Amino acid sequence: MASASPTRAKDIPAKIVVLGESAVGKSSLALRFVRRDFIPNQEATIGASFLSRSVSLVDESPPVTIKFEIWDTAGQERYRALAPMYYRGAAGALVVYDITSADSLRKAESWIGELRRNADPQTVVVLVGNKCDLESMRQVSIQQGQDLAEKEELLFYETSAKDGTNVDALFTNLGKTLLSRGVIASG
Ligand code: GDP
Repeated sequence: MASASPTRAKDIPAKIVVLGESAVGKSSLALRFVRRDFIPNQEATIGASFLSRSVSLVDESPPVTIKFEIWDTAGQERYRALAPMYYRGAAGALVVYDITSADSLRKAESWIGELRRNADPQTVVVLVGNKCDLESMRQVSIQQGQDLAEKEELLFYETSAKDGTNVDALFTNLGKTLLSRGVIASG
């Protein structure tokens, strides 16, 4: 799939992998971030290539532009263990669950284990409780998400790919964390 924004020489690339149970909204989140839109009932996979979007962090000194290269699982989550190359070189990882599915939070815990076994220890992991627009169907409290994130030392956000809540904030904060931890470097 074509890149949403052209790469400029000064952009810092950051590979981000997206993990989680099927139908939690991984592809929708990636598409919301890259295309700033929600595409309902889209095909389960976005394909083998990745989506990308460059984001300028203007309050960094000097300002930097991060090119997020987002790798979706392309429907392979059923096979549990993804190829090690999927994780290789990942600066960040989103472990996504659906706040309307307690089971998807349990599955997120096993994805965190999968990441610990396969990803570089410095990979910054964000626990993401998606579909927060579906408040009336909520099965997972914010506290439960926060508790897991704290226990595993992860960043935490609740998001809605549907209405866009917290999607840009998540990536902006992830970018800042990648810089402050030296996972990616400017210049
Ligand atoms: P994936 O299998 O994890 O990539 O999940 P998809 O992105 O294919 O989404 C699965 C279903 O959930 C689709 O019908 C989406 O339209 C829907 N969906 C995804 N994100 C949201 C969200 O934030 N809110 C709501 N209400 N539905 C969502």
